[in-house]
Amino acid sequence: MKSYQVTEFGAPLVEVHAATPAPQGAQVLLKVVGAGICHSDLHIWEGAYELGHGRKKLSFADRGMKLPITMGHETAGEVVAVGPDAVGVRVGDVRLVYPWIGCGECAVCRAGDEHMCLQPAYIGVQKAGGYADHVMVPHARYLLDLEGLDPVAAAPYACSGVTAYGALKKVQDVFASPIVILGAGGLGLMALSLLRAMGGKGAIVVDIDARKREAAARAGALATVDAAAPDSVQQVVAAAGGPASAVIDFVGNPDTATLGFECLRKGGKLVTVGLFGGGAPWALPLIAIKAITIQGSYVGNLQETQELLDLVREKNIPAIPVTTVRLARVNEALSELHGGKLIGRAVLTP
Ligand SMILES: [Zn+2]
Ligand SMILES: [Zn+2]
Repeated sequence: MKSYQVTEFGAPLVEVHAATPAPQGAQVLLKVVGAGICHSDLHIWEGAYELGHGRKKLSFADRGMKLPITMGHETAGEVVAVGPDAVGVRVGDVRLVYPWIGCGECAVCRAGDEHMCLQPAYIGVQKAGGYADHVMVPHARYLLDLEGLDPVAAAPYACSGVTAYGALKKVQDVFASPIVILGAGGLGLMALSLLRAMGGKGAIVVDIDARKREAAARAGALATVDAAAPDSVQQVVAAAGGPASAVIDFVGNPDTATLGFECLRKGGKLVTVGLFGGGAPWALPLIAIKAITIQGSYVGNLQETQELLDLVREKNIPAIPVTTVRLARVNEALSELHGGKLIGRAVLTP
């Protein structure tokens, strides 16, 4: 099999040829049909997150990540071989790989939240992912049916899709009023369409980029606001008919965290999702006085991913626009994503 591996943080991926592994036990081997390039792959590739306040970067190497690694956690593929103990899947099935796998044995995993396990074995992070022609999955329960969906367009549901869905579920109790979405990139637009499908009133979408605001308006935003406007908070509050009950921050830098916090009503909730980086800007007394909840949201569990695919099928949610890129061009695609030049969601195809 062929894969493209990170052998050194920040260096171009290296093409590696090796024997295609045979599935053992309950393992399932898939031929990759589509592998989404996620923005978080850039952080893995670069090897660190920015923490702000002059802190040292959060380094993957310091946290025990071992190289080489084959990235790719948004993978759809066709089953080509199954281990002797694999059940519920057959050769020829086209499935989405749920990548956020834990140890499977701790209380968190047994409660169904493997994505929160302290011993992650994420496919495309700790285990070999979809930047390859084949991917091995430890058990068929992590393979979700894609019937009726285009596997290339559906690949990003494994990360960006379930990230948007998981964040929305955290504010579902206030869907009767408008919510605020910060960032009109892929995640923000996906959240906008899911919000409608989930029965929400709608969203005020905030971005500094006029083209992205136009895209949000076309996608059905109740209003859009330029984050760089000096009165952006007042504009959001006016558009929402008052301070907001919930803000989802898909950017995650000090500017958006400040704006989101200032848009909230007393008792409101700020869900922070984006990993742009930096330090927290909030004045501690205001968190208490306004009784604000600040909650992080990271991808979603297996059940939520299944719910998301069911919702997409049931409500006929249009696929996110994807740009297909040949696997062999993965290094150019990563550089373009890094430089902000990649339009839409890129999915690697064989
Ligand atoms: Zn991702
Ligand atoms: Zn676990």
